[in-house]
Amino acid sequence: MRLILATRNAHKVRELEPLLAPHTLEPLPDEVVLPPETGETFAENALGKARAAAAATGRPAVADDSGIAAEALGGAPGVRSARYAGEDATDEENLAKLLREAPAGSGLAYVCALALVEPDGTETVVEGRCEGTLADRPRGTGGFGYDPAFVPTEHGSGGIGLTMAELAPHQKDAISHRGRAARALLDRLVSRAG
Ligand code: IMP
Repeated sequence: MRLILATRNAHKVRELEPLLAPHTLEPLPDEVVLPPETGETFAENALGKARAAAAATGRPAVADDSGIAAEALGGAPGVRSARYAGEDATDEENLAKLLREAPAGSGLAYVCALALVEPDGTETVVEGRCEGTLADRPRGTGGFGYDPAFVPTEHGSGGIGLTMAELAPHQKDAISHRGRAARALLDRLVSRAG
């Protein structure tokens, strides 16, 4: 299926392209306005973005809403991860704030909801999680966002104790919240077809 990817985040495009193959992703047309992410859950926000893109284009659209939950902060920043250090905060500012406010070694979880909205109104929403702990300082240059401070508990083929930003893209994909959500979405589409 050719899917419109309802995001302006180039990092998500880069990660989702291989993860959703054999489906192909097309960029969101410039004129489509995505709704503000005001939902209380990742699923709600992902659905809002996918519905807006599907309605505006008349095409199947997929959207990702994701973030990080810190145990020491009662699950914050959660759905507000992109705005943690302020409305227009950069990834670096958000990461620095998390490292200031949560202790090294404390529990983290990445969560990703993927929503697919099709022209006949069919809506599919799946979620993926990845558990980890907070590094004592940022390490690595791969990935994006909070990756330099996120040490995944499950290391797959990557090294123990490495941050997500120190893993190769395929190693992150194997264990990440986005990888898990993408595989769940592909499974749903296969079982529906079969
Ligand atoms: P949104 O889904 O556009 O609302 O924003 C996602 C927020 O969570 C951003 O601050 C991202 O940096 C962060 N985030 C989501 N997925 C990842 C990831 O795979 N690695 C690092 N940060 C992520």
